[in-house]
Amino acid sequence: MGYVLQKEGFSKLIETLGKQYRLFAPVLKKGEGRYTDVDVVRYDLVSSSDQIELEKKSDYAFKEFLTPLSETLFFFAEGNVKEADLDMRPVIIFLRSCDMHAVKRLDQIYLENGSEKDWFYARRRGLVSFALIGCSHSFENCFCVDMKSNVTKDGYLFSVDQIDGKIYSDLKDDGLKDLFEANAESVQDVTPQYVKENQVHVTIPDKVDNSIYKHPLWDEYTSRCIGCGRCNFVCPTCTCYTMQDVYYTENGKMGERRRVGASCMVDGYTNVAGGGQYRKTHGERMRFKVLHKIFDFRRRFGYDMCVGCGRCDDVCPEYISYSNIINKVNEAAKAGKEVQ
Ligand code: SF4
Ligand code: SF4
Repeated sequence: MGYVLQKEGFSKLIETLGKQYRLFAPVLKKGEGRYTDVDVVRYDLVSSSDQIELEKKSDYAFKEFLTPLSETLFFFAEGNVKEADLDMRPVIIFLRSCDMHAVKRLDQIYLENGSEKDWFYARRRGLVSFALIGCSHSFENCFCVDMKSNVTKDGYLFSVDQIDGKIYSDLKDDGLKDLFEANAESVQDVTPQYVKENQVHVTIPDKVDNSIYKHPLWDEYTSRCIGCGRCNFVCPTCTCYTMQDVYYTENGKMGERRRVGASCMVDGYTNVAGGGQYRKTHGERMRFKVLHKIFDFRRRFGYDMCVGCGRCDDVCPEYISYSNIINKVNEAAKAGKEVQ
């Protein structure tokens, strides 16, 4: 069932939804970007339709609700442990098709990667439903078509496409039917818009030879990459974290444990006891990141980790293109054993 809403109807719909759900959506933040007077689109809680950015691609991913950059997991005091409280009101996250595909990757890592589910992730995940933002065109650096993340047919409550000032919505959830009927100007079949062609293309090799680990292609990134980790923090599928214990008392018996986002590109990520470090150079770290996203994850779960959102290319201060690297890996894989 599909609906067409005027701006006012959509505004009322969001207002009403906001009484039942917390709405987490891309928001244009003026002047809050990387440099002075540069805008950024990042996720935040919204209370009105005007706050939701439906035109621009978000610079940061939706994942900050499911995997916050810093999250207190539990408190401890003299042998007693209590998990941190969480606001248990339901949440709707507004996101595009590539990010819907990224949710599957997050679920895979936190819920289906071993015998135990991640309790803290599962608690947040259980609160979340989705609203799909349609894509009328490809954005710069996207390669969702080649990664097969450009289309989403289910898993959302409703979709949102803004066309000529009206909102076109494909409603999947019958529970919201009355709300849509009360605010829509007409009923018609709606198919969410999706990207059919990107400017950027990648070819992912079916397999890579062991020679890829010593291939000279990585050397370039030892000098170009500055190890800032931005590419990881904007990525909707990066899931690495570290733990921090914060002590309130000198005897270390009272405090809290936090889960904090980590990046495989920054110093310290592979430090081990005794002063060792597995991947010292930025080229080695790049190799790890790229092969994890297009090879190692697939070997374990049967599909690629990367969804082709292009955010890592958008954000890199050194203009390093991850999609270019994928294509270089493909060329190296074709050359196979001829490669050193
Ligand atoms: S690796 Fe880059 S293109 Fe792939 S999902 Fe992450 S941010 Fe998007
Ligand atoms: S954003 Fe660019 S410079 Fe920073 S760690 Fe990633 S690849 Fe390296």
